[in-house]
Amino acid sequence: MTNTELTQLEKAHLWHPFTQMRDWEVSSPIFIESGQGVKLRDMEGREYYDANSSMWLNVHGHRRPEIDAAVIAQIGKVAHSTMLGLTHEPGARLAARLAALAPPGLTRVFYSDNGSTANEVALKMAFQYWRHQGQDRRRFIALSEGYHGDTIGAVSVGGVGLFHGIFRDLLFEVDFVPSPARAASLEAAVQQMEAALAAHNDEVCAVILEPLVQMAGGILTAPAGYLKAVRELCDRYDVLLIADEVATGFGRTGAMFACDLAGVSPDFLCLGKGLTGGYLPLAATLATDKIYDAFLGDYKEWKSFTHGHSYTGNPLACAAALASLDIFEQEQVIDGLAPKITLIRQILSEIESLPHVGGIRQCGLMAGIEIVRDKSRHELYPFEDAIGVRICRRALAMGLITRPLGHVITFVPPLASSPGELTEMLGILREAIAWET
Ligand code: PLP
Repeated sequence: MTNTELTQLEKAHLWHPFTQMRDWEVSSPIFIESGQGVKLRDMEGREYYDANSSMWLNVHGHRRPEIDAAVIAQIGKVAHSTMLGLTHEPGARLAARLAALAPPGLTRVFYSDNGSTANEVALKMAFQYWRHQGQDRRRFIALSEGYHGDTIGAVSVGGVGLFHGIFRDLLFEVDFVPSPARAASLEAAVQQMEAALAAHNDEVCAVILEPLVQMAGGILTAPAGYLKAVRELCDRYDVLLIADEVATGFGRTGAMFACDLAGVSPDFLCLGKGLTGGYLPLAATLATDKIYDAFLGDYKEWKSFTHGHSYTGNPLACAAALASLDIFEQEQVIDGLAPKITLIRQILSEIESLPHVGGIRQCGLMAGIEIVRDKSRHELYPFEDAIGVRICRRALAMGLITRPLGHVITFVPPLASSPGELTEMLGILREAIAWET
């Protein structure tokens, strides 16, 4: 089929996420046909840097032979069955690997198939846990400007008005604490969290947050020590802590998990995105023995966790995840990240001097470049100027894919990017910013 024929088909029938389809209908869609390393190639043979890791999930690059081979080997056995009443080898092996890798105490792995459901599972488990303790707790505490996915539970605890506002009437009530990135100091941020906990202490199921960085909120970084302080507060007030590491997990921050950097063990660790190296949809909610044990009982007590998805723990995805973890281990990926992070920091500090760059936020291999109209007054471009969209379109024309978060340009490259590739990617972004501002 030619590109033109495909464009007609796709415009007649395909509805895209987070997309104003009226704009899409008059655009020229790019059909990605293949990928290799940190580049994607379209049907017309144009190549693009995958500078947002295909929505923050690609880890080792595209077409990693080891992951390809693992998926092919598994497909030669069985593509899928079910985890209801049955199990399989890659699922069992991966659960053990994740438990060994995760912060101490997270021994149990519950699979689902995307980041939203990993959080949904944690929310429901926390709620049911308290029911099994004979406690009627139904409140959650979340952070404003947090993002946990698009299912109803995940949206309920989401605090990005642009994405979540329209659904507000549909959602359960949540106590939102201001983003720690906006607080005047660590102490002020911790105090805000404590006030929320103290207000409804014995009604709160859990605190849910993205540790260290609120990604979709605009790559907002929390002050050092915040996660540890929240853990201590949760212990003091006897409230569970859900760490949403869907985006920060698997090396993104420079450590395997953001919780490792903070030396914190949450009660739930939610993983997705990079879990399979960015190959296949798989997510996991890790929980402690304390949580797991509360669900044990006689069948007639009906204490089972009543949640599951048709594709829970898909074996192809588990095989991809195992191969990805092998690469982490064999190539000591985490140990190799520090120089890349330093290089990104150096180049970003040069970009920061551009007249319309208002600030840089970086944590490991994720960064946000804030674009402002007036640097001295930190004045933003008007919304209708779509400055972020314009810069990303310019970058696309120059061979680089990324997306804006409003006026913040994101840079979230695959961990496997070489120093040369990182330099080239940031060079394109710099040029696109300079051109459009
Ligand atoms: N949690 C965080 C922190 C995320 O960044 C995302 C996605 O961007 C999600 C959850 C939702 O994951 P998914 O899109 O796989 O449902």
